[in-house]
Amino acid sequence: MGKGSWLSDPGSFIIKPFKSSEEYLYAMKEDLAEWLRDLYDVDIDVNNIVESLETGAMLCSHANNVTRVAGEFIQKYGMVRQVPLPTSGVSFVNSAQPSTFLARDNVSNFITWCRKQMDIKDVLMFETDDLVLRKNEKNFVLCLLEVARRASRFGMAAPVLIQLEQEIEEEIREGLEPPPEETPPDAKHQRHTSNTQNLDEMVRHLISQCTCPTQFPMVKLSEGKYRVGDSSTLIFVRILRNHVMVRVGGGWDTLEHYLDKHDPCRCTSISELLLPGTNELGIMYYYIMTKHILKGTCPSCCF
Ligand SMILES: [Zn+2]
Repeated sequence: MGKGSWLSDPGSFIIKPFKSSEEYLYAMKEDLAEWLRDLYDVDIDVNNIVESLETGAMLCSHANNVTRVAGEFIQKYGMVRQVPLPTSGVSFVNSAQPSTFLARDNVSNFITWCRKQMDIKDVLMFETDDLVLRKNEKNFVLCLLEVARRASRFGMAAPVLIQLEQEIEEEIREGLEPPPEETPPDAKHQRHTSNTQNLDEMVRHLISQCTCPTQFPMVKLSEGKYRVGDSSTLIFVRILRNHVMVRVGGGWDTLEHYLDKHDPCRCTSISELLLPGTNELGIMYYYIMTKHILKGTCPSCCF
């Protein structure tokens, strides 16, 4: 896809190779691919990341590298109770071919390492077939991201998405007030927010597509921080390459998909019910829509 074309002209959407519900996964794969490429100087991108990792060899090699970095951390600081630190790596066959027993074995060893050494819970784990047979790329991607998240706590370089999480967590923890607009940002601020001048523009563009009688409320509180729906819902929004990402609970979504689920006019299950005139479904639609505009929740949950 035309990287950056949306950034340079938020008014014109490019044709995307995915539904809005799949974009967050694409964004994560893109981020992980770039991170692995920089870490290990390998020819890997969003289009070949799964093929590159499906033999399990690079995953196991990564596990051993994470273990090595953890070892350096332990030498320096000793064992830290709050952070699970891997103390042993994994054995693997580097020459394993895709879809073979050796590939399955490598992937299985990586999974065991994630469980035993990184203490990753089952809810964030993937199964061998999720990767080897491509049964569930999402589970695999989320697990790889979790490994990166944990390893960043003891010194591994982190993907940009994890850095953004840390930035948001820091902002929440410190209750930082934003600097005035005219204040030059400090070095730390520049780390990820060099494109924030586009962020609000992109957010406003997405919001402007709302066709509700009263526009779905999304009010900017500070850079990358918005109030949606009623006053209690705060969301953090960040740009990840050419995706507008929103931090939701412990995970990420794209803002577009988030709005598809929360802005009443974009919830297809309800808009399909909009019939002309004043029949009962029409009245119900307006009743639910008004209620959910005020609450900032998705009316599709009512059906
Ligand atoms: Zn709307």
